[in-house]
Amino acid sequence: MNIHEYQAKELLRQYGVPVLRGKAVFSAVDAGAVAFTDFVAQGVSAIVVKAQIHAGGRGKGIVHDPTSNAVIEVDGKPLRGVTVVTSGNLADRAYQIAEGLIGNKLVTIQTGEEGKIVRRVLIEEGCRIEHEYYCSILLDRSVGKDLIMVSTEGGVEIETVAEETPEKLIKIHVDPTAGFMPFQARELAFGLGLSGASFKSFVSFITKLYKAYQEMDCSMMEINPLVTTPEGDFIALDAKVGFDDNAEYRHPEWAALRDIEEEDPLEVEAGKHSLNYIKLDGNVGCMVNGAGLAMGTMDIIQLAGGRPANFLDVGGGANVERISNAFRIMMSDPHVEAVLINIFGGIVRCDRVANGILEALKIVEVTVPVIVRLDGTNAEEAREILRKSGLNFLVAATLQEAAEKVTEALTGNTVTA
Ligand code: GDP
Ligand code: MN
Repeated sequence: MNIHEYQAKELLRQYGVPVLRGKAVFSAVDAGAVAFTDFVAQGVSAIVVKAQIHAGGRGKGIVHDPTSNAVIEVDGKPLRGVTVVTSGNLADRAYQIAEGLIGNKLVTIQTGEEGKIVRRVLIEEGCRIEHEYYCSILLDRSVGKDLIMVSTEGGVEIETVAEETPEKLIKIHVDPTAGFMPFQARELAFGLGLSGASFKSFVSFITKLYKAYQEMDCSMMEINPLVTTPEGDFIALDAKVGFDDNAEYRHPEWAALRDIEEEDPLEVEAGKHSLNYIKLDGNVGCMVNGAGLAMGTMDIIQLAGGRPANFLDVGGGANVERISNAFRIMMSDPHVEAVLINIFGGIVRCDRVANGILEALKIVEVTVPVIVRLDGTNAEEAREILRKSGLNFLVAATLQEAAEKVTEALTGNTVTA
């Protein structure tokens, strides 16, 4: 699960990680009011207005009208996702910029062409930047340890640094039994070429950041840029934080941080019905019981020349309710051209599943070919039930046969169920 920059910064602040003072708003009027009362009236002479979306690249991203696609301009210039305001009436300008952002679409290198609608804006105090660094923490699954990466090349796409000047990316792994050791913090600071006040400030920064990463059950943290001020203080200017969903059960506070509008609507709907669903960009909807079988089914579809439209594990109790919800979600995806149901009857009996499918089809209108492969307990009876139903299923006995029937269905020589 991902959260917004302003939420990440509030959490980091609680761990003593230096971040700038800021406030998130949902309207242009509030943007103006906050800019005035919280900043201008306090003597602040530079503020930054930042679009809050779950995607990076905002600084270079450009804002468009979501219907006409026209570029939004403020002060005669294309509006970007991050604007630093240092002159004029700061409150008026914050109002104008927020008005340009909210309700419009921000297109960045990470959002793709369709962009993302901006609904929240962060008004933050500006700061003087001496240098922009890069810092991230994530789990390196290949060695089963957390990986901390820093670089003197901040503010830019880190992929470019990794590719062109990999020696500028300094990496250390944290041994989970020993934890993050003080010498490792110093090793990173030396790697960045720091000394004096900035050396001390960095050691303190990274120690607190790692503590936050670990205690909050994060799966990743990226601070890009991590900046130094002319005084040598390190400050997190940006913050991207992702939580490890497996730890959700011990974090009831995450619920309040979730922004459903940033998530895929079909995944949200599936979650409400406790279906394990992940949307993909192919054309074959898959309904499977068990995560392993679902993965195998997706491979088989791919090998047969199709592309899976989703990962969907209906779980052990493949009953009418679950099957109809699964059908409804798959039918809401306009890219689905065929549905493959692959259920192994272990505890759940295949004849029950077959009857469940028939009942579900009375509730949900399915307009694409349906290929069914049922195996396990009472599989033969199940196939008989489907054949006798009068509905036009393509019934398969093996996975291979199912995959071939999917290809057949996609090439168009079949009728729909
Ligand atoms: P991203 O493009 O989505 O990663 O958004 P960032 O939060 O990283 O902001 C993009 C860029 O805006 C940064 O690399 C900075 O150069 C600049 N920026 C952000 N906040 C400030 C600030 O307080 N002062 C100044 N001068 N620049 C800032
Ligand atoms: Mn950034």
